[in-house]
Amino acid sequence: MRFNRLKLNGFKSFVDPTDLVIADGLTGVVGPNGCGKSNLLEALRWVMGENRAKAMRGAGMEDVIFAGTSGRGARNFAEVIIQIDNSERLAPSGFNDSDILEIVRRITRDAGSAYKVNGKDVRARDVQMLFADASTGAHSPALVRQGQIAELINAKPKNRRRILEEAAGISGLYQRRHEAELK
Ligand code: ATP
Ligand code: MG
Repeated sequence: MRFNRLKLNGFKSFVDPTDLVIADGLTGVVGPNGCGKSNLLEALRWVMGENRAKAMRGAGMEDVIFAGTSGRGARNFAEVIIQIDNSERLAPSGFNDSDILEIVRRITRDAGSAYKVNGKDVRARDVQMLFADASTGAHSPALVRQGQIAELINAKPKNRRRILEEAAGISGLYQRRHEAELK
């Protein structure tokens, strides 16, 4: 799975619609302190189903919505879209009938989050499972937050094991087992 494009609208500091093309190879994000580099990575994590407000550096999930500045009013919703190249058909069954997968997450004040995959309403769980086996997703070890290296070093063994299991790509199996047990 390859990310092609990331679109943001009203997400944190990205109040105006922003469309970023993610080219082949290595992408660097550079800019002065506070310009929104971490917000971009959080947008990626968020659209893949992150449901812990703390991981978004907020008290509640609505804190991802543009909160306003002295010159501009707050927004009522935030939306992030990720476009994925699925030409190798690596997505789970049910999501595998097109070359491009477009995942949309939108949060509206007082109404919570809604997700779509290629225009169809889906559950948060569906989006999380879509990424669970792809060594990516909201909790992917490939997305290293600021301060996370220090956290790994200082972690209790149980938590460090969880991080290593995610890095080894086996945490998706636990999620599937959990899903199976619930059914
Ligand atoms: P650094 O180099 O210091 O790590 P950064 O480029 O990673 O900086 P971010 O942490 O992504 O910067 O962006 C922080 C900015 O985003 C701050 O100016 C903050 O006010 C703004 N911001 C965060 N949440 C919101 C929100 N809900 N509404 C408006 N602005 C927000
Ligand atoms: Mg940062």
